[in-house]
Amino acid sequence: MTVSNPLLQDFDLPPYSAIRPEHVEPAISQILADNRQAIDQLLATAHAEPSWQGLVLALDELNARLGRAWSPVSHLNAVCNSSEIRAAYEACLPRLSEYFTEMGQNKPLFEAYAALAASPQAGGFDVAQKTILEHALRDFRLSGIDLPVAEQQRYGAIQMKLSELTSKFSNQLLDATQAWSKHISAEAALAGLSDSAKAQMQQAAQARQLEGWLITLEFPSYYAVMTYADDRALREELYAAYCTRASDQGPHAGQFDNGPLMAEILDLRQELARLLGFANYAELSLASKMAESSEQVLQFLRDLALRSKPFAARDLQALQRFAAAQGCSELQSWDLGYYGEKLRQQRYSIAQEQVRAWFPIDKVLSGLFAIVQKLYGIQIKELSGFDTWHADVRLFEITENGQPLGRFFFDLYARANKRGGAWMDGARDQRRNACGQLISPVANLVCNFTPAVNGQPALLTHDEVTTLFHEFGHGLHHLLTEVEHAGASGINGVAWDAVELPSQFMENWCWEPEGLALISAHFETGEPLPQDMLDKMLAAKNFQSGLGMLRQLELSLFDFELHAAHGDGRSVLQVVESIRAEVAVMRPPAYNRFANGFAHIFAGGYAAGYYSYKWAEVLSADAFSLFEEQGVLNGETGRAFRQAILARGGSQEPMALFVDFRGREPSIDALLRHSGLVEEVA
Ligand code: ZN
Repeated sequence: MTVSNPLLQDFDLPPYSAIRPEHVEPAISQILADNRQAIDQLLATAHAEPSWQGLVLALDELNARLGRAWSPVSHLNAVCNSSEIRAAYEACLPRLSEYFTEMGQNKPLFEAYAALAASPQAGGFDVAQKTILEHALRDFRLSGIDLPVAEQQRYGAIQMKLSELTSKFSNQLLDATQAWSKHISAEAALAGLSDSAKAQMQQAAQARQLEGWLITLEFPSYYAVMTYADDRALREELYAAYCTRASDQGPHAGQFDNGPLMAEILDLRQELARLLGFANYAELSLASKMAESSEQVLQFLRDLALRSKPFAARDLQALQRFAAAQGCSELQSWDLGYYGEKLRQQRYSIAQEQVRAWFPIDKVLSGLFAIVQKLYGIQIKELSGFDTWHADVRLFEITENGQPLGRFFFDLYARANKRGGAWMDGARDQRRNACGQLISPVANLVCNFTPAVNGQPALLTHDEVTTLFHEFGHGLHHLLTEVEHAGASGINGVAWDAVELPSQFMENWCWEPEGLALISAHFETGEPLPQDMLDKMLAAKNFQSGLGMLRQLELSLFDFELHAAHGDGRSVLQVVESIRAEVAVMRPPAYNRFANGFAHIFAGGYAAGYYSYKWAEVLSADAFSLFEEQGVLNGETGRAFRQAILARGGSQEPMALFVDFRGREPSIDALLRHSGLVEEVA
């Protein structure tokens, strides 16, 4: 078994096609056992006089072996979910949780780190090494190293339970998404939808041996109906199915209900925070973030909400008036996307659907690559002949002056049994190993775009293009790192509320004429986006930006309040209500259970951290304003950004890196201006 287990082999890229669910548990058990033994040995020899090489590098090596086996498993669980891979994945979660708690509470290991940090040799360490040691000592404390044994055990039990519950949250959301579909047999029911959206639905029906069309809750299908279906009842039905997923409401009420899990997750997080001496989980979350206090975060969000609300109220009024003129006197949640799109078309004579023709996937990719090549002086080429998890997957390599820097996989299209959303996952970290060899980074970039249909290439909406740029920005942060210590290379060790800086920063090029010229070409004629279309898109850029901003702030405040005010007796729904009372300009129906699908905070890393998007957007908008001053394709400014931010990962505090690039601390002005939240002077 051991010999033939691909997860225990020393591979370059994961042998995806050879990985079977039955390989997972034996491989992980074996590696955890080996690592425990290696750490005991390492401490027996390195304890008295620890060195960087004997301690940190040795541990990096053990972590890398574990990551090499676990990364493809957790990736497959996300993008090719099946009951077998899910069971294998879940069986490992408690063991991994136990292992990491054990490491975080390993007193001799902690003492070795403390001794290394205090040793004379530490004076000669580079800034990344010093930061890594400082963060390591902080993380031992946040793992309960100072607690009495009984409390340490409780900490471990809570972590284990949390890892189980958050995984279950994610599974139930995926199951609820897959469980619902609507079969349509008369095309008239789909009036308003584009031919390509209908063709997708036909494909989905054929995949289940059905005639006609199949509407699902996968994003491209949901989006098409909510934006274009003339049939209001159909929109309402789909809206209700989508926003009640995994809850006590809607068509599958109670069947995949995440509600009880959420309550339990919140209770356990609160208990964890108290155990570690924090008043609540929000305070614990901030202990490793750029923001300094709950007050600072709340003040930031409330100030932005106050500024945005009048704009949002105006957006809503305009929409209500427009809908009323079309015969819809009472605008409901399932009308927002539909009339919003109609109003956009009327005002700017441009439709999201219409611009797709100019964004065929290969043009977008080649344009994206051309932009980053100009900015950062790198080259990108596609590789072939690699092992993969799905036929759609593509692999690329970044080089500079012929030297390979890193590789990334693209898995771009929505399909069944793949988690929704878009993300970058650092599949392998850059590091220099004990033999002096530089291991290059690898990233997985995952999206859920509308796939190709009817022999045409996949055509993206401008929103999808923006998502691609966003994830690619995360990818570059991971891949263009120059840090050679695993603990601070790529996005490792970057404060979570600064991690969206490189990603949101990249989105700006989707809105610049020079960027758009590179990423657009009509898929039939090859013509670039015509000037008048471009003008219309730019004019429409901040269409309803007040509503959009307020929605993000509502989510951020909800998440933060949920974790900061836990224990005041309010339920999740009551917190939702109080935040809406404070900021919302429109109320969704009472059955709406969006929180039950809010995977960012219940299954991802954004708990008491969803505010990070807005927080980092201040940084990304302000960083981009230097390109506005110096030219958006200015290679010198691009190199400066690469050197100050992308290359340096978690080696220093994010504020220091930002100031290094911008020459001053961030200002909120650029964000307000980019979002159209400033009164225009005539
Ligand atoms: Zn992001």
